[in-house]
Amino acid sequence: MRWRKGFSSGQYDDPELRRIAFWPLSSGEVHYLYWFIQGSIMNVHTRWALRRGWGLCERHAWAALAVDMSFRPGYLLDPAILYEDLLDCCLARIPTFGPFKALRFARQLRPKGPCIMCAMRIYRAAGCMPRAGLIEQGQCTDQLLGLALRYQDYWRDTVCGLCSGGGVEMLCRQHLIECSERISPDRFERVHHLLATTAARVRNLSRSFIWENRGSEAPQDSGALLTAIGWMSGWRPLLALINEPRRSSEPPHSSQRNPEIHGCGWPESSGSLLHAFSNNKDAGQ
Ligand SMILES: [Zn+2]
Ligand SMILES: [Zn+2]
Repeated sequence: MRWRKGFSSGQYDDPELRRIAFWPLSSGEVHYLYWFIQGSIMNVHTRWALRRGWGLCERHAWAALAVDMSFRPGYLLDPAILYEDLLDCCLARIPTFGPFKALRFARQLRPKGPCIMCAMRIYRAAGCMPRAGLIEQGQCTDQLLGLALRYQDYWRDTVCGLCSGGGVEMLCRQHLIECSERISPDRFERVHHLLATTAARVRNLSRSFIWENRGSEAPQDSGALLTAIGWMSGWRPLLALINEPRRSSEPPHSSQRNPEIHGCGWPESSGSLLHAFSNNKDAGQ
């Protein structure tokens, strides 16, 4: 079991994919995720596998959102339901009394199964779609980038300092596992507070798709979905996307820039993560 060694440190992705750029996705990944968002995500075995692995690996967690958004812009019900469930599972495992809470919580956060996409080596699979252009549409990241920039005020303070290289104030699940022996009680309480508020926001988002609650979602709720994904799986693919210079040879759908992206930029500030955003601001104009 080549996965088992990585579980002890909280890593559970395909080691070979760490040498490959996060974007663009391969045709096999787009093909899989296209069918994943058509209903496979609701398959009972898939949901249990997602619970065992705390979602997907860093690459595929953001890939799933990107593909979902490229085919169904603005329709975030599936990811909202998934991350509401995962956050509730997390909150249920937070120790409420006794010493070494961070250490005990971190043990619970270790995955018990691999990323289902890495386990199937989807990256290497050939993807073919029923209609021409669907692969290119699935590879387009404009919708995800637009969402991230539109709601940046509501998630940027929750970015993991070790994922971004900009400090260590907040930690994602993976880095919380790695640093669990050095986390103070105060800092652990801040993580607890972040998870509780994020879960409530994501719940609001998923409930807003019920007809009686239509229109009830707040901008903070959409931002919280990005926080949920970043905390659960890591932030680097999203930060890489924001930092990525726009390519002149992008597929046709990618070159049709989302007008909402233009004019959205990271406020002037310091730090490596903020530098990443300011680069994108220049590139997007
Ligand atoms: Zn994966
Ligand atoms: Zn991190």
